[in-house]
Amino acid sequence: MRYDLEALGRTLSKEELARRPVAGFWRYAEFLPVATPANRVSLGEVVTPLIALDRLAAGQGAGAGRLLVKDEGRLPTGSFKARGLALAVAMAKELGITDLAMPSNGNAGAALAAYASRAGLTATVLCPADTPEINLSEIEAQGATVIRVNGLINDCGKLVGEGKAERGWFDVSTLKEPYRIEGKKTMGLELAEQLGWRLPDAIFYPTGGGTGLIGMWKAFDELEALGWIGPERPKMIAVQASGCAPIVKAWEAGEEHAPLWDNAQTVAAGIRVPAAIGDFLILRAVRESNGFALAIDDERILAARDEVARGEGLLLCPEGAATYAAWQEAVARGWIEPDAESVLFNCATGLKYPLPRATRSLDRHRPVDWSRLENGAS
Ligand SMILES: *Cc1c(COP(=O)(O)O)cnc(C)c1O
Repeated sequence: MRYDLEALGRTLSKEELARRPVAGFWRYAEFLPVATPANRVSLGEVVTPLIALDRLAAGQGAGAGRLLVKDEGRLPTGSFKARGLALAVAMAKELGITDLAMPSNGNAGAALAAYASRAGLTATVLCPADTPEINLSEIEAQGATVIRVNGLINDCGKLVGEGKAERGWFDVSTLKEPYRIEGKKTMGLELAEQLGWRLPDAIFYPTGGGTGLIGMWKAFDELEALGWIGPERPKMIAVQASGCAPIVKAWEAGEEHAPLWDNAQTVAAGIRVPAAIGDFLILRAVRESNGFALAIDDERILAARDEVARGEGLLLCPEGAATYAAWQEAVARGWIEPDAESVLFNCATGLKYPLPRATRSLDRHRPVDWSRLENGAS
């Protein structure tokens, strides 16, 4: 999507935008392709908060307010997939498309289901068979047809491609239609506005298909073209799981494309993407920004989730937890100053993921041995 930013610069000011009553990403209507306001399908989007992890940051020598989590789990359907799919659905509505289909590891399918139902469109979602039950149920409960496939997300994507011909589906796979990225782009607009029209020093992004990273990179260029920000850019840091790290491998090897990752496995389902269609765009943004790519193993991802949940009271999703572990690792390696202003993207609510079982219990019919109860076990 290209916009007439010069004309927009003459008609829209930061002050006018600040006065707008719409809270969520639809406030950036001029930066988005939907022409008819009635097509802006909404489920009550919010500006997602920036939450400082001051206590954990201090432990690594960072000052207050330097390590921030942008908590995307507050969006409808509990993940930032709402941004992209709201746009895809709104544009489908605007263009008269009625039957949408998509491969998904869970969160994208849930967002598609919800926004499609809201807009009165039908949706079919193909998921890897081992997608967490909660995601499959959520998709179905919100009105889409969900189908398990014995394969990974790229296998599901191939089947959607075939269904396009056989069933007349419109394929809303990441970067196979041009609008999801426009929705994800709003993370960059929103972040800049929240910080008073400046950008942080570093963005740690859990990277699957990379739509958000590419989208934010595009947003920054658009804001600069408008004259709302300068040429400075954050380091764009692609975070992946060690069990599925095609972008990290390609970045380390200096390659422009990332070959398919065999045997992809990780608890961070949202970033289990063995092949990203926009690999070269992710790698380009990472390199142009002087950023880097880092992989974190599952054990560390889960330990990071526990650390942030217990230490700060913020339950991250595994993908978001990976960005915290990556920040720690980058500081330890000297790749980033502890005091750099770093934004970690927590892309979904931690509540959508399997959590460790709580095991303690009391029998109220028997005498309680109070001496055996620990206080605030951690
Ligand atoms: C989809 C997803 C990602 C990856 O986002 P991309 O922009 O496609 O790379 C990360 N985390 C979660 C929770 C997701 O659902």
